[in-house]
Amino acid sequence: MNVTIIGCGYVGLVTAACLADVGNDVCCFDVDRDKIDLLESGGIPIHEPGLHEIVARNKAAGRLSFTTDPHRAMTQREAIFIAVGTPSGEDGSADLQYVLAAASEIGRYIEGFTVVVDKSTVPVGTARRVRGAIAEQLAQRGVDCMFSVVSNPEFLKEGAAIEDFTRPERIVVGCDEDVPGERARETMKRLYAPFNRNRERMLFMDVRSAEFTKYAANAMLATRISFMNELANLAERVGADIESVRRGIGSDPRIGYHFLYAGCGYGGSCFPKDVRALMQTAQDYGHSLRILDAVSSVNAAQKQVLVNKIVARFGEDLSGCVFGVWGLAFKPGTDDMREAPSRVVIGALLERGARVVAYDPVSMKEAKRAFAADLRSEPAALARLTFVEDQMDVAAAADALVVLTEWKAFKSPDFDSLKARLKQPIVFDGRNLYEPSAMEEIGIEYYSIGRPRSGAPLHEEALQPRGAAVAAYGR
Ligand code: NAD
Repeated sequence: MNVTIIGCGYVGLVTAACLADVGNDVCCFDVDRDKIDLLESGGIPIHEPGLHEIVARNKAAGRLSFTTDPHRAMTQREAIFIAVGTPSGEDGSADLQYVLAAASEIGRYIEGFTVVVDKSTVPVGTARRVRGAIAEQLAQRGVDCMFSVVSNPEFLKEGAAIEDFTRPERIVVGCDEDVPGERARETMKRLYAPFNRNRERMLFMDVRSAEFTKYAANAMLATRISFMNELANLAERVGADIESVRRGIGSDPRIGYHFLYAGCGYGGSCFPKDVRALMQTAQDYGHSLRILDAVSSVNAAQKQVLVNKIVARFGEDLSGCVFGVWGLAFKPGTDDMREAPSRVVIGALLERGARVVAYDPVSMKEAKRAFAADLRSEPAALARLTFVEDQMDVAAAADALVVLTEWKAFKSPDFDSLKARLKQPIVFDGRNLYEPSAMEEIGIEYYSIGRPRSGAPLHEEALQPRGAAVAAYGR
């Protein structure tokens, strides 16, 4: 099949590579000339395991091409995917300018029946606006050609995107119930057939429900994380260990283990913006999503929890302190820095005068760009942030190590060597990677999320509810 993908980001590039790999002729179109030049010269603009090989293989086979020429990209294509960004607008709603620009571009060039596939995460009702933008351009050209807009939200996870695309748990497709919609449904079935062989994974529904499904999925996952973070903060106060609690509840098949890890908050390109966009959609319809309000504010507060622990240990003024940081990307397996908790935590340490020495296995280039943007009006703070190429070097003469991303390489480090390098053997762990008792044995002062601190047995009085403790002291 002849397919075009508009937008060569995490979603567009993975979709293009995987569709080409099963024999389709795929053209990738992007407005970013540097990105297209890089792709044409054999480079890959993002870090995604396995992607480089698939892109190279299919480019060499002539099934995958890259262009900034809309005429070449949009004509004589059976399906055109829109996979451009939908960042948060000022009010939190999804900014649809890139989606609608892509739709207009489609309308300016298509000549025959085309299935337009909305893969970007877009609010309910966007397909109708995309249809309108295409129809407007067709009318201006005086061209009468049939097309259908389907919603096909993407559920891939950065870091496991190839596996998720080629072995999806489900393929959600929203189609209209008219003649073009029926044709589009058949096209989508043919396109996804290679990924749908071992069992039926395609879930057909109406367009609005498909658009809603993506937001519902991300809102649910974000809710689970904020729920556990909220409980983690209580666990610390009542002397419980949130990791034991996680195992205790995750073993219930009605709950399951996924997305129950307490930590220093969720980030990334999807959860924060999609939760905000769904809340804004609700507001537009005069409805309030109170749970998501809480999910969002719990997450914002959670990004400060580690900072609060550091300030409680070192004081409000951190000038003169040096902190080594392991992990900058919002999660392992990606170089994506969008809304990464590291930006908040490191920003707060720098703001209090600290020096920060940071390391991440893949996201340092992106991180440098992100911090340069975050701190463009504070050059003195930016100058106190440095990056090193060896993970152990962050510890050299540092007052403490701060762990912000759960990369494999951080899970079982040489603690003796770490201890020897740190000025003080102190670790603040935002991902609960280590056992508090093991850290105590090694002689490391260890702070994590939702677990009793090593070496500091809590006094029974401290574990009383506030009112009861006050009453006890009063006696
Ligand atoms: P991205 O920012 O990595 O890439 C978007 C690309 O679109 C950029 O290369 C940009 O130059 C290009 N672009 C913008 N306007 C264009 C236009 N008019 N014509 C051609 N190209 C244009 O975005 P992403 O992370 O791939 O996300 C894309 C969409 O998929 C978003 O709606 C996102 O919410 C959704 N999504 C993302 C993920 C993820 O893990 N990243 C997962 C599922 C869904």
